[in-house]
Amino acid sequence: MIIAYIGLGSNLDQPKQQLLQALDELADMPETRLNRASSLYASSPMGPKDQPDYLNAIAEISTGLAPLALLDELQRIEDDHGRIRGRHWGPRTLDLDLLLYGEQVIREQRLTVPHPGIAQRAFVLKPLEELAPRLVVPELGTIRELSAACKDQQVRRIK
Ligand code: ATP
Ligand code: MG
Ligand code: MG
Repeated sequence: MIIAYIGLGSNLDQPKQQLLQALDELADMPETRLNRASSLYASSPMGPKDQPDYLNAIAEISTGLAPLALLDELQRIEDDHGRIRGRHWGPRTLDLDLLLYGEQVIREQRLTVPHPGIAQRAFVLKPLEELAPRLVVPELGTIRELSAACKDQQVRRIK
């Protein structure tokens, strides 16, 4: 089994419900166990500003799925949530990004791991820091270091 981290995001159709349901669905993936999940965090949209704020969270899973099989499962869950692929970084019911897959570095057409946005995004680093501050992102450093470098971005933890 490999420990992997999944970033969850939503800003449409009851984001909190979207994320909580997605956590259950991650737990139901084949060959996979949901170890734990972060709190929920709110932030302003990263791309176009004419869309609602986002809710984000991180899930830590243990999985026997190979990376592309895991990506297939994540995309199936996104589709089940009625995700419509519109403009880049536009609003969505559910986004599931594979952030880290053990310590592996993967550069394939469909899949880049660590996720290329990881080091620049406080809405990823804050919840990751809650779960695993000492975790090392291959080639980049620890979550705590990366998060400190993004501290100017406003991300609000939801109690
Ligand atoms: P971003 O990836 O910058 O957060 P996004 O999540 O909005 O943007 P999507 O529309 O969800 O982007 O995904 C676009 C494509 O990215 C997917 O079809 C998938 O093949 C590819 N992709 C590459 N690496 C990853 C990864 N680590 N996790 C999820 N998708 C990835
Ligand atoms: Mg994304
Ligand atoms: Mg995505």
